[in-house]
Amino acid sequence: MLEIKNLHARSEDTEILRGINLSVAAGEVHAIMGPNGSGKSTLAHVLAGREDYEITEGEVTYDGKDLLDMEIEERAAEGVFLAYQYPVEISGVSNKYFLKAAINSIHKYRDEPVISRKDFVALLKEKLELLGMDKSMMDRSVNEGFSGGEKKRNEILQMAMLEPKLAVLDETDSGLDIDALKIVSEGVNALRSPERAIIVVTHYQRLLEYIVPDKVHVLAGGKIVRSGDKSLALELEDKGYSFLQSGAETVA
Ligand code: ADP
Ligand code: MG
Ligand code: MG
Repeated sequence: MLEIKNLHARSEDTEILRGINLSVAAGEVHAIMGPNGSGKSTLAHVLAGREDYEITEGEVTYDGKDLLDMEIEERAAEGVFLAYQYPVEISGVSNKYFLKAAINSIHKYRDEPVISRKDFVALLKEKLELLGMDKSMMDRSVNEGFSGGEKKRNEILQMAMLEPKLAVLDETDSGLDIDALKIVSEGVNALRSPERAIIVVTHYQRLLEYIVPDKVHVLAGGKIVRSGDKSLALELEDKGYSFLQSGAETVA
C-alpha cells in the first residue's frame, strides 16, 4: 500500500526528515513513535501533501502510484486521510454539512455524482453506529466549543465517513487524556480492515495499550532508528527514549 524510500524533507534551511524507509501493507496498523521534534508530524504532513516542506530526496509509492506527484485533493480522492493534531474549528458550518462537503469534494475529483441526501443519511447512520456515537454533534458547528474528547470523536467520524485506504493519525504530544486515548483507539480498532492501512503517530506508549499495532517504528533525528513489533513500545515504556542514544545508529 505504502512504500517510502530514503525520504528527505526540509523546511527552509532545516533538514527534518533524513532518509525515511518504511513499508506499510494493506490491513496493517503501524505506530510511529519518537521524542518531541523527531519529525513525526512532518512525516504525516508530507504524506498528506502539505506544501510547507520541500522533498529533496527519495520516493513514496502509494497503491502503485507516485504519491509525491499527486496534489492534495488527488491524494484525498485516492483514499489518503490525515487527522491533524489540532482539529480546526469552523464556525457557522454544521458538522453534517462539512462531512457532506468533504465527501462531495472527493466525488467531484473522481467525476462521481454528488452523494444523495438518502445515501448520506444512511452512511452517517452506519458510521455513527459503528463508532457508538450519537447524532447530537451533527448539527453543531464543526469542532466549535467541542471538548478535547468530542474533537477526537469527530476526527474519527470524519475518517470513518471518508473510508480511506490509508489513514494517518497524528496524535502527538498535546493533551490526550485517557478518555481521548480510548476514543482514538476504539475508533481505530473499529476501522481496522484488510483493505485499509493505518499509521498512528504518537508520543505516548499508552495509546498502544489500546491499539495493538502490527509494527512499531521509532523516529529520532528524522530517521527510523528502530522497528519492531508491539514489544518495542513496551521497551520504550520501560527505558524511555534515552536508550536510543546508545547504539541507535547501528540498528537503523
Ligand atoms: P514531532 O512531531 O516529532 O514532535 P515535528 O515534525 O513537528 O516533530 O518537527 C521536527 C522538527 O522540525 C522540529 O525541530 C521542528 O521545530 C521542525 N519543524 C517542523 N515543521 C517546521 C516548519 N514548518 N518550519 C520550520 N521548522 C519546522
Ligand atoms: Mg512535537
Ligand atoms: Mg508532532
